[in-house]
Amino acid sequence: MSRSFVTHLECGYSGERYDAGIVQTVSAAGKPLLVRYDLGAIARAVDRDAISARSGGFWRFRELLPLADRRHELHLGEVTTPLVRLARSEPRGGALFVKDESRLPTGSFKARGVGIAVAKAKELGIGHIAMPTNGNAGAALAAYAARAGIRATVFCPADTPDVNVREIAAQGAAVYRVPGLIDECGRIVGEGKKALGWFDLSTLKEPYRIEGKKTMGLELAEQFDWRLPEAIFYPTGGGTGLIGMWKAFAELAALGWATGPLPRLFAIQASGCAPIVRAFERGERHAEAWRDAQTIAAGIRVPAALGDFLILDAVRESAGAALAVDDAAIVAAQQRVAHDEGLLLCPEGAATFAGWQLARKRGLVAADARVVLFNCATALKYPLPEAAATFARGDSFERLRSR
Ligand SMILES: *Cc1c(COP(=O)(O)O)cnc(C)c1O
Repeated sequence: MSRSFVTHLECGYSGERYDAGIVQTVSAAGKPLLVRYDLGAIARAVDRDAISARSGGFWRFRELLPLADRRHELHLGEVTTPLVRLARSEPRGGALFVKDESRLPTGSFKARGVGIAVAKAKELGIGHIAMPTNGNAGAALAAYAARAGIRATVFCPADTPDVNVREIAAQGAAVYRVPGLIDECGRIVGEGKKALGWFDLSTLKEPYRIEGKKTMGLELAEQFDWRLPEAIFYPTGGGTGLIGMWKAFAELAALGWATGPLPRLFAIQASGCAPIVRAFERGERHAEAWRDAQTIAAGIRVPAALGDFLILDAVRESAGAALAVDDAAIVAAQQRVAHDEGLLLCPEGAATFAGWQLARKRGLVAADARVVLFNCATALKYPLPEAAATFARGDSFERLRSR
């Protein structure tokens, strides 16, 4: 048993208060709801070292999470994801790390947000969840819903790789391909929830996925001994992680647990789908939907984000930037890091490396900065370059001499 330190929910746009004790979706203004805590009571109840001494991945931060009863936690072997240093790539005097989120259940950081949100849905008595997905969120939903004994229905864009669709189905969810992109899948979930009473777990259309993604910021603070790094590069789709980490840093500062300046946040998008970058460059607070979105980095192929203003606020308040990189730069970054460092990044993760290179070139990050890139999913769920050479007994070894 435990207690919840949640005081209320708050519209991220208007600040209007909502009851956290009942099922909530978005605010009356149609904007994301943020979870607020009694931080003073948390500071009196627990200290950061006690949390660090616990095991159990993101569930360790339970005082800063929304569950009222620990019995609703859903465990699939969550780990604190490692910071892998890229010593061959970093500039002299600097430190470049990848936070490798591929080690989480279902192979992506979607496990954080979806794990917490499904557990909270279970606590609130929800029986059937639906979601649009580019793949990874649906896989996490299928797994955690199976764990919770909740039904799950998932809609993917028609061109979602087979491996993602099969993974979702294998974990017991009903999964459908939809002609169109993620926004079309979202429309279908919206209509289905009216027709069939599903609970919609779409990005930022319920309050709790942000809380799960927030744990990336909490873990980072802990891993850097509570002195946050100077810059974070985050592959930005719906922006849950960026918004969540910025919220985490504010909570850590209020608790007095993190000291020193806050990190600068760099939102990285693909140049074939860069609505946040366009709005950032134009000085706007909301991002117009991107037309004909196209990129190999499917996780950030998100033409319109409900939390656009929260992403843009966080990037600007942190003195960061929003930057776009093209697919060729993503592929080059993926190959370079795999060859030089032995770490295979997913395309979205590789985009952050390319984004960091661009930021260095533009003089936006100092050589001696401690920088964190996010590898958000396992590369093994994506098509990899062809490797079809054969070698049979009896073939000449001469041609292998230089390989
Ligand atoms: C969902 C996803 C993203 C984008 O994350 P947001 O926090 O929603 O912006 C990036 N990369 C991968 C692999 C994803 O699955």
